[in-house]
Amino acid sequence: MRLLFLGPPGAGKGTQAKRVAANLGIPHIATGDMLRQAVSEGTELGMQARSIMERGDLVPDDLVIAMLVERISRDDASTGFILDGFPRTIAQAEALEVRLRDEGLDGAVVIDVDPEEIVRRISGRRVCANGHVFHIDDAPSERGEICDQCGESVYQRDDDRAETVRNRLDVYRRQTEPLLAFYRERGLAMHVVDGVGSVDSITDAIMARL
Ligand code: ADP
Repeated sequence: MRLLFLGPPGAGKGTQAKRVAANLGIPHIATGDMLRQAVSEGTELGMQARSIMERGDLVPDDLVIAMLVERISRDDASTGFILDGFPRTIAQAEALEVRLRDEGLDGAVVIDVDPEEIVRRISGRRVCANGHVFHIDDAPSERGEICDQCGESVYQRDDDRAETVRNRLDVYRRQTEPLLAFYRERGLAMHVVDGVGSVDSITDAIMARL
C-alpha cells in the first residue's frame, strides 16, 4: 500500500504515520526526520537545509525530491510505504506522480486539527535525538529531561519555537494545502480523520478508514 499523510504541522502526522506503518508492515518515510538526520550528520544536504529549516521555510524542491526518490527506490519500499511530510508542494507531488507512474498511490490520510490547537501542541512538543516525541503537558517523558525510551536528552526543536510556528503554518496554507485539491481532482481516496482525541483512538479511526 502506498499512502500519504497530509495535514498541518503539529497535527500528529508523524505519531500516527509511524503507528500505521508498523501495523501495515511498511516503512514510514518522513522527509523531516531524514533532513534532521542530514543536519546532525553535517552532510552537504544538511548544511544546505539547516538554516532554512530553522526559519520554518521549505527546503528547495530539487533537494527534497532527490532525497525522497532515492529512499523509495530501496528494497524495503518496493511493496509500499507511508510518506509523512512529502509532498509539501505541487512540484513535489508532480515529481512523485512521474516517479510512481502506473503504480500510483492508494490513498491519502488527512489529519484535521484547528490552528489554535496546533500552536499549543507544537510549542509544548519536545523530542530526543532518536526521534521519540513528547509533549510537556499531554505526554511528558517519565524521566523529565531524559528520554524515557532511549536515555538521550529531550529538547525543543529549533523550528518549534513560537515565532517559527506561525511561519510554518503560513507556509502550510500557501504551499501544502493546495495539495488537497490537487489530489481530489485526481480522484485519490482521501481519508479525512479528526486529529483531536487520544493517540490510540485516532490510530483506530485511520485503520478503520483504510
Ligand atoms: P512538521 O510536520 O512538524 O512541520 P517535519 O519534520 O515534517 O515537521 O518538517 C520539518 C522541516 O523540514 C520543515 O519545516 C521543512 O523546512 C523541512 N521539510 C520537511 N519535509 C519537506 C519537504 N517535503 N519539502 C521541503 N521541506 C521539507
